[in-house]
Order: sequence, then structure tokens, then C-alpha cells
Amino acid sequence: MRVCIYARKSTNKINQSNTIENQIKICQRYAKQMELEVVDTKIDVGTGRNDFNRPEVKSLIQDGVKGKYQCVIIKGISRIYRNVEEGLKLIKKLHMNGIRVISIEESFDTSQNTASNGILDTSKLTMYLIMAEMESNKISERVKWTQVEKAKRGMWNNPNRVPYGYKYNNKTKKLEIDSNAARTVEIIFKMYEEGNSVSDIIAYLEKFNLKPPRSKKWREDTIRYILRNQTYVGNILYSGSIIENAHEPIIDKDIFNKIQVLLDSKARGSKNKRSRLMGLIKCESCNSSMTLRKYHYTGEYYYYCSGYIKNGKSFCSSHKIKADVLERKVFLMIKKYLKSFDKFGEMQSEFSALKKKIDQLNSKSFVFTDKYIEGKLSDDRYREIIKPVAYQIDELTKVRDEFETKIIKYRYLKNVVSRINYDKLTNLSNLEDDHLNSLIDIILITNNDIKIKFKLETNV
Ligand SMILES: [Zn+2]
Repeated sequence: MRVCIYARKSTNKINQSNTIENQIKICQRYAKQMELEVVDTKIDVGTGRNDFNRPEVKSLIQDGVKGKYQCVIIKGISRIYRNVEEGLKLIKKLHMNGIRVISIEESFDTSQNTASNGILDTSKLTMYLIMAEMESNKISERVKWTQVEKAKRGMWNNPNRVPYGYKYNNKTKKLEIDSNAARTVEIIFKMYEEGNSVSDIIAYLEKFNLKPPRSKKWREDTIRYILRNQTYVGNILYSGSIIENAHEPIIDKDIFNKIQVLLDSKARGSKNKRSRLMGLIKCESCNSSMTLRKYHYTGEYYYYCSGYIKNGKSFCSSHKIKADVLERKVFLMIKKYLKSFDKFGEMQSEFSALKKKIDQLNSKSFVFTDKYIEGKLSDDRYREIIKPVAYQIDELTKVRDEFETKIIKYRYLKNVVSRINYDKLTNLSNLEDDHLNSLIDIILITNNDIKIKFKLETNV
């Protein structure tokens, strides 16, 4: 996904950790971690005017609408906006234009807080912002400053979350090597450097009964997290700065850097292997999610009902379906759906026609009502004429209201759909996660069929 970083001159003068450079640095790091492609960085120096017609905000929205990027990353809105409303307004404005917004400090992502009708739920964010606003700035600044100072002296700020391979020394407040776990960390790095895959590493660790941190089984993302963690070369990452040689390293810097390059190239090349449909796909029989597994003998991927995986045959059948086949089918269904989306152009005119018809019926009823009031129609005659007209108006108004809801949804989706290059769609990997999430409500796997529920049905 292409993203734009938006940095803004802080209205809070004391806040030294919030310089434009720092905001950009944090956003860049976040984008890198999340494997998002930064295509633009916009800096808003703030001219004192605060409306959304400011050129900086205008171009932020316009370039997004043009498709230059699909997402805007902000370091955090609570510290760059003077009050809750201002920050929220910007987020809503971007969202209304079909642009996803991620605010790192508040861990807020519009794509995770959008209801199926396209309406943005800001309640979580509002609450956070109000709390941030209420909190005495001086106190929070002080806490932050103390923690930064501690980090600068190589001290570890979070004794409750010590990276695997280290332990926390209460006296020095620093990290110390935990030799057994550190040995496992070394194995992980060494194996990856030698070209083993993450699942190879897990298989090896399990074979030799080397236990993971705080759980029973190793997970792929735990391994990846370890491979990405700078703590192992002796660095501390804190509040936007890197403190080097803070503690004894477990991994040599050159090896660590080499592995980062390997991870980056793998992340780009292996997009098809992970489940593109994660979170969207469910087993209709038992309502459990479907999960992607590699079939060891053939190395091929299949989706299984996770209810079956967890609870066995008596709970649900496996619903095993080859990943390629399923993804191909889903892709074709989406493609067909997108094509049918063309019809929505007609929808707008149909809607206007409907409104016109209601207006006509209304004026018709007025004509008769006037005549009746003037005594030109009898009670019975008036009732006889007006009853079917009133009934028709009622019925059409209901249809119009339903139509209206659909048109509102459509306007929201139009932005998404307009960014998909229909002619170049050849498989599921052409569609970004954002597109999938905006279009699809749920995919259901039945005994011998696949059903897609779209967020907006086109069979109007
Ligand atoms: Zn099931």
C-alpha cells in the first residue's frame, strides 16, 4: 500500500520530541515495520489559519483522491492539535474522501474502525484524545523526559517487557544477557542467515525443545519480531531515537544488518504465500474462521475450518480447499462484482427519477385536495381518488429511502473502486488489502460452494 506521511508543526511549544523531523522519522520507521511504501511526505508548517482550505491540507486530500496514495500516516494527533475537535476533523475529512488514516501514537487506524456501512467510528479515538487533553501536559512531559533521559543512559524503561534473550537487572536498571535464551536467539539469527525459512527455524526449535517466550508454541511472527529487534545488537529504541551500545549485544551488527536486507527482500517477494483473505473467510457450518495451512507432503497450501483444526471431526468437517483454487474463485467473483458496479451510474438517475415521480404524485394529490377544500369534490369522491395516490406515495417513499442508504454507501465505495485498475486485474494479488476489506463483508465456505457477501450488494 502506498502511503503519505503528514507532519505538522506542533502547537505545543515545549514539546521538543515533536519536531517535524522527529514526526517524519517515527512515521518512516512505522511504515518500514508495516511494509508500507512511503511515496510522499507532506509538511504543514501551519499558517495560523486552521481551516481545511489551507493549501497543505488541500493537497493532502487531493493527491489521495487522485490515487497517489491510499493512506496517510500521522505520528499522533493529540500532540499536534490544540484540541480534540481539530484533530478529529482532519481524520474524518480524509476518511470521507476514501483515504485511510493511521495515527501511530493513538494506535488508531480508520480501516479498523469503520462499520460495514462505511461510517467511521471515532469513539475510541475521541476518548483517547479527551484523556490526553485532560492529562496535565506538564506531568506527562515530565514522565516522558525522565524516560528519555533513562534510555539515553542505556537504561531499560519497561521492566515488564524484556526482550527474549535478556533479563532486567534491578540495580543497574539495564538489560543483561539471559544465557540460555540468548543461545536460542543466536540459533534463530544463524539459521536465517544460512537461508532457512521461518518455518524451518520453528521446526528445528521444536525438535530440540527450545521454548519460546511466554507461550508454548513458537509462532512465525515471534521469530520475525526477534529477527527485526534492534535490542539484540545492543541498541535501545526510544521515543524516536536510537541509543547505541546500551547493553551487551547478542548479535553482531553486520549479521543483523544483512538479515534486515534479507527480510526486506523476502517481504516483497512472498506476498502471495500469506493468506490474502485472512479475517474475511469463515466456515458457514460452524462459523469458525478458515485458516491457511501448508500440506507438508506436497508443500501446497490449503484452507481448513479452524473449528475442525481445534476441535476435530466431531465438531465440524475439515472443509479443506486448495488455496490457489479458492483464491482464484474468489478473485473471479470479485471481478464480476466490480463489473456489475458499473450499474451504479444508472442508480443515481434511477434515484432522481423516483424522486421526480414522488413529487408528481404529491402535486397531483394537492390539486385534488384543493378542489376538495373548495367544495368541488364530494367526501366520497375525494377519498376514492386520494386513497390510491397516497398509497403509491407511501410505497415509493419507502423505496426511495432504501435507495438513499445504498447511494450513500455507494459514494463511499466509489472511491475505492475507482482506484482499482480493472483492466489490469489478473489475480488476487492485484487487489490491495484495503480494497478487499472495503468491498467484502464476509466470504462463507459451505459444503461445496463459496459465497461472498459484499458490503454493498449490486443486485439493486
Ligand atoms: Zn466449520
